[in-house]
Amino acid sequence: MRVAKDFDREDGFSTEQIRRSRNDRERRKDIRHKERHSPKVFETTSRDLITARILRTEGAYLIAETAPDEMIRCRTIKSTVSGNPTASLVAVGDTVLIDKSESDIAVIREVLPRKTKLSRRAHTRRDQFEQVIAANIDYVGIVQSAFEPPFRTGIIDRYIVAALEGELRPIIILNKSDLLAKDERAEFIAEALIYYKSIGYEHYLTSTTTNEGINDLKDVLHDKTIVFAGKSGVGKSSLLNTLCGEEIAKTQVLMKKGLRGMHTTTTVAMLPLPDHSGYVVDTPGIKEFFHFDLEPDQIRFRFVEFQKFQEQCKMTNCLHIHEPGCAVSEAVDNDIIPEWRYNSYLAFWEEAERERKARIGGI
Ligand code: GDP
Ligand code: ZN
Repeated sequence: MRVAKDFDREDGFSTEQIRRSRNDRERRKDIRHKERHSPKVFETTSRDLITARILRTEGAYLIAETAPDEMIRCRTIKSTVSGNPTASLVAVGDTVLIDKSESDIAVIREVLPRKTKLSRRAHTRRDQFEQVIAANIDYVGIVQSAFEPPFRTGIIDRYIVAALEGELRPIIILNKSDLLAKDERAEFIAEALIYYKSIGYEHYLTSTTTNEGINDLKDVLHDKTIVFAGKSGVGKSSLLNTLCGEEIAKTQVLMKKGLRGMHTTTTVAMLPLPDHSGYVVDTPGIKEFFHFDLEPDQIRFRFVEFQKFQEQCKMTNCLHIHEPGCAVSEAVDNDIIPEWRYNSYLAFWEEAERERKARIGGI
């Protein structure tokens, strides 16, 4: 006779064996469920997939452009494959592969890796999830005004550092060029712009009233995407209107009004240039996307022209603040690096140092 404790079933399995097998079954079911509902490693075939670019959000959906003037509403699904694993699944500006076959709302099967990005989080903190606001932007157009508000190299330098941090290319746009003759500092502005050019940052003189320089700017934007940065009043919205046409810009304003109160995290949008040769990113406040925690000792590397002097600094890890035998300070004394540019560096460094101390103190 079988001992009930061990063999209590007709099929000869012990209760313990049954329990284990049931557990295994549950575990396998769980794994299967997880597999079904989490992003797959790769399953796309290029069969019916269409390449598109995300232009904006619309409620819970995304509006993607598949060809000039051809927009399609789409959405992500649980199995959408990401080329950017530690960041937002999809952002305005992303290039995506969509599947139109299933319903009138297209499905985003794959988000391609981003070339560049504007994020809320610093790139230096790689361990944290990155919220991407806009992707695949080529230029930061640092807009300054030739008259009012006054031209500020300090602001240009900050945005240059920020652009480099996001791997975007900075260009300087001096708008209101029709008013340049009125500005007492016109000579200084011209010198500063020449200096920026000498260290690799191009500039464009534009006027949205006379249209001076607008075509040159359009040429630069050919097949590129730009986001404007600069103080309020320098003419960012005017530039956007002039480049994209009032109509597109107006639609954008209406769209934003319509979205008010809905659960959209952002009203960032890509506006195509009328001839579809490029895009302007419209964002309510670029400043917050450029908040980043740069370590003080990293800032010197973002002042590109310091590099060639720094090898001659006496101290190996010279910060170019008040170290003896500093070749960067010497270049400033010899008017090779302008004082205003060096002052921007010092101001930036002091701020980052203050923040670093606050961070350490706060832990
Ligand atoms: P934003 O705050 O940077 O978006 O600046 P706006 O586009 O709203 O422009 C601020 C003011 O400057 C408005 O009154 C514009 O009409 C004016 N403005 C913009 N561009 C120019 C320009 O090229 N020349 C002149 N004279 N005024 C301009
Ligand atoms: Zn030095």
